[in-house]
Amino acid sequence: MNFLRRLFGGNDNNREHDGAIHVYVECGRCHAVVHVRVDPRNDLMPEYGDGDDLTGYRLIKEIMDSRCFRLMRAEIEYDVRRREINRTIEGGAFITRDEYEQRRSSLSSPPRD
Ligand SMILES: [Zn+2]
Repeated sequence: MNFLRRLFGGNDNNREHDGAIHVYVECGRCHAVVHVRVDPRNDLMPEYGDGDDLTGYRLIKEIMDSRCFRLMRAEIEYDVRRREINRTIEGGAFITRDEYEQRRSSLSSPPRD
């Protein structure tokens, strides 16, 4: 895993935030919103083409909300420079950070059942 350390370690281009990837999702069943913080050093899997060439990275994250506890499965693809090129999710939907913050603040009095 030394090459990962070299790839992600010595370069200051990604100092904004803490280098982590923040993912915001909404559960497709109960519409609860969830924020997950992903550490690229642990969670990004390098992908290789036919040869030994690195073609990009893939992040697969299983996310569970705290209301209905259904598992969502997010998958995000990155190019070799770790720029996002595609994202899909099963069981929910991606939302923006702003949407997440709004939804969180409107949940101050959760409904009872
Ligand atoms: Zn749910």
